[in-house]
Amino acid sequence: MAFAITQTCCNDATCVSVCPVNCIHPTPDEPDFGTTEMLYVDPKSCIDCGACADACPVDAIFPVDLLTDSLKVYAGINADFYADREPAAANPAPNFHRWGPPAFDRDIPSDFAPADIAVVGTGPAGMYAVEDLLLHTNARVTLIDRLPVAGGLVRYGVAPDHPDTKRIGEAFERFHNHPRLRLKLGVEVGRHVTVDELAARHDAVIYAVGASAARSLGVEGEDLPGSLAATTVVAWYNGHPDVSAHAIDLSAERVVLVGTGNVALDVARILTADPDDLAGTTIAPHALEQLRSSKVREVVLLARRGPEDAAYTSPELIALSQRAGVPLVVDADDPRTAEAIAAGTGKAALLRGLAQETVDWTAPPADGTRRIVLRFHSAPLSVTGDRQVRGLRVSGPGEPVEIAAGQVVRAVGYRGRPVPGLPFDDASGTVPHSAGRVEGRAGTYVVGWIKRGPSGGIGANRTCARETVATLLEDITSGRVAVRPRRSRVAALAARVRGR
Ligand code: NAP
Repeated sequence: MAFAITQTCCNDATCVSVCPVNCIHPTPDEPDFGTTEMLYVDPKSCIDCGACADACPVDAIFPVDLLTDSLKVYAGINADFYADREPAAANPAPNFHRWGPPAFDRDIPSDFAPADIAVVGTGPAGMYAVEDLLLHTNARVTLIDRLPVAGGLVRYGVAPDHPDTKRIGEAFERFHNHPRLRLKLGVEVGRHVTVDELAARHDAVIYAVGASAARSLGVEGEDLPGSLAATTVVAWYNGHPDVSAHAIDLSAERVVLVGTGNVALDVARILTADPDDLAGTTIAPHALEQLRSSKVREVVLLARRGPEDAAYTSPELIALSQRAGVPLVVDADDPRTAEAIAAGTGKAALLRGLAQETVDWTAPPADGTRRIVLRFHSAPLSVTGDRQVRGLRVSGPGEPVEIAAGQVVRAVGYRGRPVPGLPFDDASGTVPHSAGRVEGRAGTYVVGWIKRGPSGGIGANRTCARETVATLLEDITSGRVAVRPRRSRVAALAARVRGR
């Protein structure tokens, strides 16, 4: 009986590197790795050894015959991936299958002096870079975060009802106690230490500062009380120190979420969850308490495109549609929605079997159980209300429609913030770079969302970090970046930062 990869797949390909028969694809060197929603086990080649399940950092891999009811669908999803694909045996096996002299793709001389490297940011991008540096080089690492708690988006971004995904944080935490790592929390670049000071005290600096700002809609009324960013809601339920315990008002019966990415799904799920199911998770106590008295009965997910182009990943939508007690309903206003679902193009096929309904948007949601409504082909035009949000005016197949709602949450993506002293491309919200090397600043590198923009889950950062660290090592071994005698420069910086 084969193994199957399921909902929480993080795509970091740890499983690929331990599979002895190369039956997990796409591998990082295959073209579709960059765009795949998840990785898949080929049931015909799997030898049932379980090495992948042991290595999986997010507990996403199980024997097919032990899949729970909600995960059974993944037996077919894994097998379907291989329906039109060459058998694995026809693919070249990765190097780790062959025992022989070690093959390193980085030429590091054995007498290479240890470099002092600072990594700014303790989220997944920073930690994959740290892991690569500590496991594959002799570098000494200073790991810095502006918050007093490490973890970045694993701690403050992943939803509390996704404990398996949060578990990847444990894999990262192992490195916090590594003898060649110094962890400095509560240190903010631009406030306690400058980019120039970090550069002067280290041989190289990698910025993994993510994309912490929220993109805006650019529509009238967006700044009214009751209109907020999904990043605020996410920070609120995860207990982020920057967001007040009272940042969210749950007295509204209907909440409109603009966007259909996985962040929108996370927020919709938490706002409609049974609070008892969230008790015992890492949810912030204030959020759990407020959810217990929440009046929210309907969450509307607004998509400007059709169901075939929805931004959520299939595993997240499947999980949402299987949740007991919270129906997922499709708004039938635009006939193109039903047509796409019937045709089953792209992600539209995921919505087959869901109820379709013409919703009266002028009235409050009907009494009864909480539910989530998906409305496609509908763009936000303006947030309505005088002193407080009253609703959202949106496009439809005919005249614009006003959806009566007490909260409008924009989940239209994150955006990087400039780091004082580093170049910044305002259009993309990223630091300009080539293969991770920051343009115009020798010895300075970027990784993660500040490098490539705010898309891709946790595991996408592994290959991203690998590229940045490879560039850094190439610069050091080629002499472009000099490794200087250490003396006391790092300790001197620590004393100065403490003073500030
Ligand atoms: P996202 O996936 O890029 O989704 C953004 C959504 O906003 C899209 O539906 C987009 O519509 C919509 N949008 C953008 N501008 C808009 C506008 N002006 N008006 C209306 N709609 C607009 O972003 P995200 O949800 O923030 O997620 C970021 C990344 O984190 C993604 O890669 C996601 O998969 C990942 N993530 C993963 C998980 C998980 O695995 N559980 C959880 C959270 C986040 P269009 O598609 O039409 O542009």
